[in-house]
Amino acid sequence: MSPLEELRHSGSHILATAVLRLFPEAKLDIGPPTDTGFYYDFDLEHKFTAEDLVKIEAEMKKVADENQPFLRKEVSREEAAEIIRQRGQERYKLGRLADIPEGEKISFYQNGEFMDLCAGTHVRYSSKFKAFKLLSIAGAYHRGDEKNKQLQRIYGTAFPTKEELAQYLDNLEQAKARDHRKLGKELELFVFDTDSVGPGLPLWLPKGTVLIEELEKLAKETEFAAGYQRVRTPHIAREKLYLTSGHLPYYADSMFPPMQLKIEPEKESKYLDLKRQLELGKSNFAPIRDQIEANLNNPVMNTKADVLRELDARARAGEDEFRNMQQQIDELLGQHRYYLKAMNCPHHHKLFGALPRSYRDLPLRLAEYGTCYRYEQSGELLGLMRVRSMQMNDAHIYCTEEQFAAEFKAVNEMYLKYFKIFGLGKYQMRFSTHDPAQLGKKFVDQPELWKKTEDMVRRVLVESGINFVEVANEAAFYGPKIDVQVWSIIGREFTIATNQVDFAVPARFGLEYVTAENTKATPLCIHRAPLGTHERFIGFLIEHFAGDFPVWLAPEQVRLVPISEKQLDYGRGLRDTLHAAGIRVTLDEHNDKLGAKIRRGEIDKVPYTLVLGGKEAEAQAVSVRSRAKGDEGVQPFAHYLERLKAEIATRALPEKRKG
Ligand SMILES: [Zn+2]
Ligand SMILES: [Zn+2]
Repeated sequence: MSPLEELRHSGSHILATAVLRLFPEAKLDIGPPTDTGFYYDFDLEHKFTAEDLVKIEAEMKKVADENQPFLRKEVSREEAAEIIRQRGQERYKLGRLADIPEGEKISFYQNGEFMDLCAGTHVRYSSKFKAFKLLSIAGAYHRGDEKNKQLQRIYGTAFPTKEELAQYLDNLEQAKARDHRKLGKELELFVFDTDSVGPGLPLWLPKGTVLIEELEKLAKETEFAAGYQRVRTPHIAREKLYLTSGHLPYYADSMFPPMQLKIEPEKESKYLDLKRQLELGKSNFAPIRDQIEANLNNPVMNTKADVLRELDARARAGEDEFRNMQQQIDELLGQHRYYLKAMNCPHHHKLFGALPRSYRDLPLRLAEYGTCYRYEQSGELLGLMRVRSMQMNDAHIYCTEEQFAAEFKAVNEMYLKYFKIFGLGKYQMRFSTHDPAQLGKKFVDQPELWKKTEDMVRRVLVESGINFVEVANEAAFYGPKIDVQVWSIIGREFTIATNQVDFAVPARFGLEYVTAENTKATPLCIHRAPLGTHERFIGFLIEHFAGDFPVWLAPEQVRLVPISEKQLDYGRGLRDTLHAAGIRVTLDEHNDKLGAKIRRGEIDKVPYTLVLGGKEAEAQAVSVRSRAKGDEGVQPFAHYLERLKAEIATRALPEKRKG
């Protein structure tokens, strides 16, 4: 265990110590460290309450202050069982003891009066455990199996210092306030109608749609500048497309089940004919099979071996024919079976293959904000982060091996450009490679291409000075991939997108181009989606900006607030001017106090509120209040408008808030 895990795991022991002091009848299961803290699972008639957590935490503090050493004791299996029984903890601990493989050391750790079956390791003294907090109580099935009893899990966290703990708790609070589901509702960005539209299918309200369209505008401008061409493809395709791509049958569980259409009229007679023949044939042959079966089981009839053989041959021939007919029926049905697309690649491959391609056409970069549908298990749906319909910032780059490095580099640079626009200072690229031992199983069996592409990718990453880690054995089936992780302002980690090299699937689609030597070659394909899906990316941006979007992205950019009715006409004039300049503006025509109007703008997180009083109206000026800097004073309207336009055009990030 790392020192931090050691500290947190010691917290599990100290938690159990405190719980047993307060609830001696509690039965213990296990208490490991987690990525962010620790927990312990208890079986107890009494249901833990929030007040209990306070008491338990206070008791833990006492245990820590007692400065108990953590002492290791190695015992035999029999002794271990005996200790567990003496302590009345046989309900779960005997099972946990049995999990320890034969021949492995069995140890207990003791701190004060408490003793737990544990392999270690821990801090030396309980007094090391100073900066901690119990966070929540949750139900957890014993061994994670819902057939087992549900236990009560107490979660906590701990840090080496009080400052780190305070920072973590603050981030946790902020994360709650920034939760995209909460803000999405408050800011009227999107809704779910689980009942009639369905779970995991977000509906975008007008304000949320602004976010989507601004992101698409950014992507389209960026991709146009980088030489991409846009394409459009339908949301469904015949089964055959996904059999070619290999998504069926392997990926079938993640796709929505198919739609079986009615057989087209011109094929219907053939279909009905086949079905009729098949049924008729089967009913004719069934008695023959029965006859054979009956005779085979009847020793008296053995003399009629010839007859039987003859019958058997006829039955077999018939069965072959049935199989053939069944195949034709299946094929006809298959032609009428459609799937919602779960990924855009197969459609794009078809577009590459639709025209004759020469090396002069490469690299060919086909981009589409394509909508995909994936059948996530309903238990895994989570706000915008896990959905069943998603609009993806997708593109496929078809290129030669010689062009690959430059293309891949350009894709990485596009990622970095986006990070800058969104103020993502911390990122990491996770480079997943293959494992030679798994060639032909987990990875396509093309060792040379693996080596070549992985070397190229690695070289590009190093040359571009990109922050990356390399992980073996996690590549995609058809090539190495890069997952891009970013961290939000409050340190929340998030995987934006995956960037993949594909040297196998273009061949499955028979994609070719004519080389300079007039031979045929298969292109490489780069799959890339720097902005991921709208759903996940916007979910992330909401939390990253806490709903305070940069002006270019904000659904409402300016709110005009007249002090009284007298300035309404002035306000209407400004609104029309701003609107004509393409600014998303509203005029607050409510009849209430100025303070209330300003507060509404704050709640709606409008970047600029322009207050219009008599003096402002007279001077064609506005009193500017920004979310970023507060009261910015009175400015001539024309001057403000220029400044606003520039801020939007440069997609500037909001300046740091005052205070
Ligand atoms: Zn332990
Ligand atoms: Zn793709």
